[in-house]
Amino acid sequence: MTYFPLSEAQRGWLERAETIAIEVLAPAAAETDRSTMFPRHQLDALRDAGFMGLRADPAHGGHGEGLLTTCLVIEALAKACPSTALVYKMHLESIEMVSRVPTLVQAEQFVPRLASGEWLSTVAGSEAGHQGGAWAGAAKSTVEKVDGGYRVTDIQKSFVTAAGVADSYFFMCSLPGEEGTRPRQLMFQLHTDDLTWSVDAPWDGLGMRGNNSSPMTFGGFIPDDRLLNPDGERVDFFPVVLGTYAATYLGIAAGCYDLLCGHIAGATLADGRRMGEVETIAARVANCKVEIERSRALLYAACAAFDEDRHGGPQPFYECKVACDQVGAFVTQEAMTLGGGAAFAKLLPFERYFRDARAGMVMGLAHDIAILNIGRLIFPRPKRDKT
Ligand SMILES: Cc1cc2nc3c(=O)[nH]c(=O)nc-3n(C[C@H](O)[C@H](O)[C@H](O)COP(=O)(O)OP(=O)(O)OC[C@H]3O[C@@H](n4cnc5c(N)ncnc54)[C@H](O)[C@@H]3O)c2cc1C
Repeated sequence: MTYFPLSEAQRGWLERAETIAIEVLAPAAAETDRSTMFPRHQLDALRDAGFMGLRADPAHGGHGEGLLTTCLVIEALAKACPSTALVYKMHLESIEMVSRVPTLVQAEQFVPRLASGEWLSTVAGSEAGHQGGAWAGAAKSTVEKVDGGYRVTDIQKSFVTAAGVADSYFFMCSLPGEEGTRPRQLMFQLHTDDLTWSVDAPWDGLGMRGNNSSPMTFGGFIPDDRLLNPDGERVDFFPVVLGTYAATYLGIAAGCYDLLCGHIAGATLADGRRMGEVETIAARVANCKVEIERSRALLYAACAAFDEDRHGGPQPFYECKVACDQVGAFVTQEAMTLGGGAAFAKLLPFERYFRDARAGMVMGLAHDIAILNIGRLIFPRPKRDKT
C-alpha cells in the first residue's frame, strides 16, 4: 500500500508490475544472482505485457506514461529482482530521447521496435577514469566526422548493462571542438549492427549480478541519421535517469524490508522471546519503515510534480537518488544485523539485497557526486566575467 494518491491507471500499471514481479521475477531472483544469468525470460514477460514502451509516445506504439507510473513499476520490479529492474530501467532510460524527439528515420526504424520490446536497449556511456560515469559531464572518447557519419575507433566503455545482449545502444561520445573550444557531446541511438563491438570481460559483480554489466569496445562507422536531436532541440531527461535509479534502490530497500518483517515475525531468540516482541528489535524495524516511507514520499512527490510540469530542474531528482540509495544501503545493513549469523552465512535472503544495494553508492551517478551536485545547486558558483 502506498500513502500517495494514485490514479486508476497508475494503480493498474502497479498491479500488473507486481503480478509479474511475484510470478516471474521473484522465483528466479536468487538463481539469477547466483549464476549471473541474464534475466531473459523475466524481460520477455515484461515485453509481452507491454512494459517496454511504458514511456514512449503513443504515436509510435508506446503508452506515454509519466514518471510516477514509471517509478512505481521499477520499484515493484526491484523489490523482487533488482538485476531485472536495472536492465529494464536502462532500457527505459536509453530510449527516452529517441522516443521524445525522433527524426523521421528514427521514428520509422527505431522507436516502434524499442517501444514494443522487439529490441532491448541500454546505455553505453561510462568510460574508465571518468569520475562519475556516463552522466557526470566529463568529455567522452572522441569520434571523427566523416562523409555521411562518424568514424569510431576503439571506444572503450567501462560498464554496459545488458552488454552483448542488447539490440540497441544509447551511445555517448564527443566530437573535438575547434581550437580553444570544448568538445561537443554527441548522443546516438544505434542498432548493434551499426558498429563492430566486443564484450571485453564476463560480468561478475558484487551485486546486480544478473545483468551483464560488462566492459565493451566499439569501432566502425555511425551513420548521420543515428544522431539524436540533430536540430539541437534540448531534451532534459535527467529527471528520468535519476528518478528511475532512485526507484530501483527504493525497491531494494522495500523488498528487503518485507522479507525482514517476515523473518522477525516468525523468529525466536535463544531466550525464547519472539523477535518482534523485543522492543529494541521492533524499533529498528520501525525505523527502517520510516526511512522507506520518507524516501518514497520524496520520490513520488518529485515525480508527480515533474509529470504536472511544476518543476523542471534536476535538484529534486538528485535528492531522490541520494535519499533512495541511502535507504537501500541502510535497510539492507539493518537486515544483515538483525538476521545475525544466518544472514551472514547466506541462509537468509538479505545478503543478496545488501550486495545489490551497494550499487546505489557507486552508480549511475555515484552517491558522492549526486551530493556534490546538490551542494553546487544550493551554492552556485559566481559566473566568471568573460571580458
Ligand atoms: C552494476 C553496474 C551497472 C552499470 N551499468 C552502466 C550502463 O549500463 N551504462 C553506463 O554508461 N554505465 C554503467 N555503469 C557505470 C556507472 O554509471 C559508474 O560506475 C558510475 O557512474 C561511477 O563511475 P566510476 O565507476 O567511473 O567511479 P569513479 O568515477 O571512479 O568514482 C569512484 C568514487 O570516487 C569518488 N568520486 C569520483 N568522482 C568524484 C568527485 N568529482 N568528487 C568527489 N568524489 C568523487 C566517489 O566516492 C565515487 O564513488 C554501471 C555500473 C555498475 C556498478
